Amino acid sequence: MSWEPVIGLEVHVQLSTRTKMFCGCELSFGDPPNVHTCSVCLGLPGSLPVANERAVQYALKIGLALECELAPRSIFHRKNYFYPDLSKGYQISQYDEPLCRGGRLGDVRIHRVHLEEDAAKLVHLGQSGRIHGSDRSVVDFNRGGTPLVEIVTEPDLRTPEDAREWLVLLRNTLRQLAVSDVNMEEGSLRCDANVSVRQAGTAELGTKTELKNMNSFRFVERGIRAEVERQVGLLESGQNVVQETLHFDPQGGTLTPLRSKEEAHDYRYFPEPDLVPVRVTEEMVAAARAELPELPAARAERYLELELSADTARRFAYRPDLGDYFERALAVAAAGDGADVSAQSLANWVAELASQLDDADPAESKVAPEALARLAGLVTGRGVTSAVAQQVLGRLVAEGGDPAAIVEAESLATIGGGGELEETVRAAIEANPDAAERVRAGKAEAIGPIVGYVMRETKGRADGGQVTRMVRERLGV
Ligand code: ADP
Ligand code: MG
Ligand code: ZN
Repeated sequence: MSWEPVIGLEVHVQLSTRTKMFCGCELSFGDPPNVHTCSVCLGLPGSLPVANERAVQYALKIGLALECELAPRSIFHRKNYFYPDLSKGYQISQYDEPLCRGGRLGDVRIHRVHLEEDAAKLVHLGQSGRIHGSDRSVVDFNRGGTPLVEIVTEPDLRTPEDAREWLVLLRNTLRQLAVSDVNMEEGSLRCDANVSVRQAGTAELGTKTELKNMNSFRFVERGIRAEVERQVGLLESGQNVVQETLHFDPQGGTLTPLRSKEEAHDYRYFPEPDLVPVRVTEEMVAAARAELPELPAARAERYLELELSADTARRFAYRPDLGDYFERALAVAAAGDGADVSAQSLANWVAELASQLDDADPAESKVAPEALARLAGLVTGRGVTSAVAQQVLGRLVAEGGDPAAIVEAESLATIGGGGELEETVRAAIEANPDAAERVRAGKAEAIGPIVGYVMRETKGRADGGQVTRMVRERLGV
């Protein structure tokens, strides 16, 4: 029997507007506590909210980017519950008439996108804040009322890795839209994962659990993986999955129940009487559309037209930092500095650079796009071998500089024909008489140790193809 994970994400995005969702208090991160507050965001009786127009516009941009249907009219609801970080006793959110519905990003369908306000921040002081013998928590209302967009996907993800990769795509898309800082560590991007498993090949969904607020991409992947394993373990031992909310502890890798699932009607949603409906006009949509940058899907199309492989096109579109860097290097190569480098081979060098940088943004590295284009040009023009170019790239990563100058200074240029290589090939055959005999006898693949000898002797500066040809010639095959 094989089990198939089914995953849907609920993502909260703090919008980077200047002021809060329903009042004029400034947004802040890192200011002293409780300095950005007013009667509205403190929830004092009689105060009246007014919706932030810019936040609505940002949400429309997100809706357009995710190819959603924008509601011509949507309304706010009160979601009632008690918690110390919610002084009104309800959160203003959207319920059955959200701003955006449907849509897709990459392979994942979007269920809905709605606007709401963030709660204040509870700070647990623990032992250090003990008062009357018990631990103490305090509330910072600076965050209370920050505009939030909630993005809910359909349960279309199938592996923990895909969930992580898709979340990175969403983060990059939102970053390009310039609507949020999208920083998971700082909480401007927060993700809950809904997870279930089912027998591969069946259509019915299993009972899901919800993993709350994982604050890094890595934890999302690890948390989901741990939960899938837990559910498979339960089902294989004849037990049932219980619908509940879980907390993933990344330290120990453990999952602990937070609470069993509240039903939607527990919140006693009702329309917010203090706010008028949001009417989305054609002008508002046009203005939001005019602010859209090129989005990943369009970018991937463009890269396919440059004849990048489907995998590379998708990767560079999902990672705009790599895509941007690639395009700058390509512009240099096209301007003649790169001796006929193909887009794909340049892309391979960008990918190689990214892996040497441990996936950090190459624009922030010491390797200028010009330098990478030149390096790729040296390889294409057979000035250096790929093996040498790898070493040179390592040097560029560590120190920056110009690849041609490094090749020159270190005498790394490819050894062509001529005496030196002839002599080394002769020595290689002499050192490997058995291999030479087998090649002569028709076993072409036995040539390995002889070519390897030349490569070692020349420290990778010989062209493998050329060496192979020379060896075969000398052996008369
Ligand atoms: P709830 O009412 O519990 O919030 P929803 O139906 O609104 O549940 O779905 C919330 C999220 O859970 C969505 O992202 C959805 O795709 C996902 N989801 C729903 N059912 C499942 C399931 N059986 N397995 C995994 N994810 C699911
Ligand atoms: Mg939910
Ligand atoms: Zn306020």
